[in-house]
Amino acid sequence: MADTLAPAEDRRHRAAKRYIYAWGGGHAEGDASMRDQLGGKGAGLAEMTKAGLPVPPGFTITTAACNDYFAAGEQLPDGLWDDVLDAVREVERETGKGFGDAANPLLVSVRSGAKFSMPGMMDTVLNLGLNEQTLEGLVGLTGNERFGWDAYRRFIQMFGRIVMDVPGERFDHALEGKKHARGVKQDTDLSAADLRDLVAEFRAIVRDETGRDFPTDPYEQLDLAIKAVFRSWFGKRARDYRNSQKIAHDLGTAVNVVTMVFGNMGDDSGTGVAFTRDPNTGEKTLFGEYLTNAQGEDVVAGIRTAPKIAQMATEMPEVYAEFQRIGQQLERHYRDVQDLEFTIERGRLYMLQTRSAKRTAAAAVKIAVDMVDEGVITKEEAIGRVEPAHVDQLLRATFDPSAVEQAQRIVKGLNASPGAAVGRAVFDADDAVEWVERGEKVILVRIETSPDDFHGMAVAEGIITARGGATSHAAVVARQIGKPCVAGSADLVVDYTSKAAHGAVTGIDFKQGDWVSLDGSTGDLYLGALPTVEARFEDQPDLQKLLGWADEVRRMQVWTNADKPSEAAQARGYGAQGIGLCRTEHMFREGERLDIVRGAILVANAATRAKAKAAAGAELDADEREVVGRFDAAMAQLEVLQQGDFEGIFEAMDGLPVVVRLIDPPLHEFLPNLEEQLVKVTKAGDAASEEDRELLATIKSMHEQNPMLGLRGCRLGLMIPDFVKVQTRAILNAQIAVKQAGGNPIAKIMIPLVGHVNELAATRALLETEAKAVEEKAGVMVDYKFGTMIEVPRGALTADEIAREADFFSFGTNDLTQMTFGYSRDDAEGGFLLKYVEDKILPFNPFQTLDDAVAGLMRIAVEKGRSTKPDLELGICGEHGGDPESIAKCERIGLDYVSCSPFRVPVARLAAAQAALTVADRDK
Ligand code: PEP
Ligand code: MG
Repeated sequence: MADTLAPAEDRRHRAAKRYIYAWGGGHAEGDASMRDQLGGKGAGLAEMTKAGLPVPPGFTITTAACNDYFAAGEQLPDGLWDDVLDAVREVERETGKGFGDAANPLLVSVRSGAKFSMPGMMDTVLNLGLNEQTLEGLVGLTGNERFGWDAYRRFIQMFGRIVMDVPGERFDHALEGKKHARGVKQDTDLSAADLRDLVAEFRAIVRDETGRDFPTDPYEQLDLAIKAVFRSWFGKRARDYRNSQKIAHDLGTAVNVVTMVFGNMGDDSGTGVAFTRDPNTGEKTLFGEYLTNAQGEDVVAGIRTAPKIAQMATEMPEVYAEFQRIGQQLERHYRDVQDLEFTIERGRLYMLQTRSAKRTAAAAVKIAVDMVDEGVITKEEAIGRVEPAHVDQLLRATFDPSAVEQAQRIVKGLNASPGAAVGRAVFDADDAVEWVERGEKVILVRIETSPDDFHGMAVAEGIITARGGATSHAAVVARQIGKPCVAGSADLVVDYTSKAAHGAVTGIDFKQGDWVSLDGSTGDLYLGALPTVEARFEDQPDLQKLLGWADEVRRMQVWTNADKPSEAAQARGYGAQGIGLCRTEHMFREGERLDIVRGAILVANAATRAKAKAAAGAELDADEREVVGRFDAAMAQLEVLQQGDFEGIFEAMDGLPVVVRLIDPPLHEFLPNLEEQLVKVTKAGDAASEEDRELLATIKSMHEQNPMLGLRGCRLGLMIPDFVKVQTRAILNAQIAVKQAGGNPIAKIMIPLVGHVNELAATRALLETEAKAVEEKAGVMVDYKFGTMIEVPRGALTADEIAREADFFSFGTNDLTQMTFGYSRDDAEGGFLLKYVEDKILPFNPFQTLDDAVAGLMRIAVEKGRSTKPDLELGICGEHGGDPESIAKCERIGLDYVSCSPFRVPVARLAAAQAALTVADRDK
């Protein structure tokens, strides 16, 4: 009956714009490319219809209607209602049923559907069009009175809660009360008469809560439901979800009005949710759940624990075979794993939704790699299919197996979303937020979750539910946000009132605040906080394969920030191509070294003055000779120790570049805290030791009001040159030692915090002399270069001058952000910055993601630097080097490499490849 549908181009409309796209009878006005207007669900329904799949007729009201509804102050745009009525008439013709027709009633679902899937975040109303008259018709047609009353009570319950804002618990309470009174467990055990009583009770609840009768006119129901779906776009949970997923608030939701088909018409009916591959592991097998004689919400909400879809193969073999065929067809069509919703009405299969499936990190990687191997997608597409966050998750810790052996398992549920999580039990989403704000880690324990729990799930380390399966709300959302989750732990008895739970089989109790450990990969929940072990990159061949492809397409190299040989080795194992930042001062803080460093600092200024005096030809007195002696002795010890450190790093990175950053922080950071020392000396009074007094005097003399803007970086090296001279000698001698042992050490000596070219010129001259002297003495030449960090705005703005003295630049975007914004790094993040982000004064934390103004300074520096030295090497070593969004900005700026912490290296390899592909696409 395709002729009942107007062609896509010229559908008649009375509203100022065309807001409606219909489908049915094998024809559809929309298609998969129209996600912006039709939302994912509407576009999918249209596309499935076009592909000849069995889809119940219906129509989509576009996202533009939603936006115009809000623009008009929550009013349907003029003419839209008339267009809806026309579309309803078409569906009536298509189905041969009548909306509000007591003899042959058309019932519809009214479903939200935005461009991006927001599972359970917005509202859907089923069975719309029912009233006492149409109910008669439904009962007459199906010959099933119980079914009719069940459909009606569900409708009132859903419509009441979603459209009329009646608290859902009131209905739940009444339903539970009825089951209790009848002594039954399952909803399906209630009789038609029970359900009729419930309908009366539900209607009374609606009247009591809203002061009006439940609407009986199907058109009024439709009008109210459409508006409620629009409104749900700005509901709290939808807004929270969009914020967390960075989805724009101005996209709006479409509304899909779809002919109802019933999965609860008896044992030859059913409904389910299935994935064309396992969304946990990526295995190529149909995965999902279904329930006979049930409606869709029963599966999704986990109200009855559903059997695995494979059971359908024995219960309804023909339908199963058809479903399998359709699944494969859709997967081929969309070239991606599909998440399918379906209903079987009296043996006939209907497809209600298809969309790209949410998947775990492991599944994302396996599916992408498998699909390349199957010839379905290209390597480039595979790279785009995996999120950098997925890679991050795959490198997360798991529980230490020996600890697991000893651990007390409370329950075992379904392994719904992988990963190990440790935290203190909380039983409520609001409690979760409150505890986390206090600095606690929590595991959210619920009987089941609903979209209202999202804020708690988002902050929890992991989630466990007593009810619901692998496609329950808890499971779907946890997978998406990358949280470990155990679902459907049937033996877990949760009591919200006492905020406690116990394992029915194990008898183990726990209450709010108790430590528990949850393994989303196995489905186990343990008592206590178990130790975790790191994930092994070596054991993940699919991930390595994918990252290998990423390496083929990316332009930027990925280096690492590592201060120790062990970190360097780990990063190299992850694929790091160099060290972009070795913070040498970290080496000063370990064990015995701190004492030596302190000894040197105490006399550093006096010794430096004395040396200057001697250099000018003056005689030193005994005291001066003594401080110089002490200082030089400490420095000599440090030189030996640092040389050992550098040798380890050069060995670990043999043949790859190592950027060694010379001492950066202010010296007082190596001394005891001023207040503490003051208290110590004051308390001791006359008994205070000479040493403590001297220390206090030195700390005071070095005290600065703004140490971050004070004597640090290259300024420190220029004031007390021995610090950097010693470091340079240690680097060169380490290189010589490693080279003589057959290695290939490549050093890049980096001078921090340069704001004026003269700072760099003076430091470089000093250090070059030192380096040459070492080479000459050893009679060995090694590979080293001198460069600088660009981390002071003036440095960026005068990069053409600075480049004269530098062989390379590395952007220190931590400091560059601090100094561009004028925010103290140490104070802002713990203070006002979070509030700024929360209140949208800033769109994001600029210490995490590169701000565009900071990126603008980098771009200036790149252009200016290259204008002086076209082949100047350019990298980034601030924290942004491991952040995918910032990496994309670095690609556009044209850096040669990004450098990040060892754990982020695999993430950065993928992100750099994605960035390169995006830029290549843009330039096409
Ligand atoms: C930077 O400022 O970005 C940087 C890498 O140096 P640090 O964080 O050590 O100041
Ligand atoms: Mg810095």
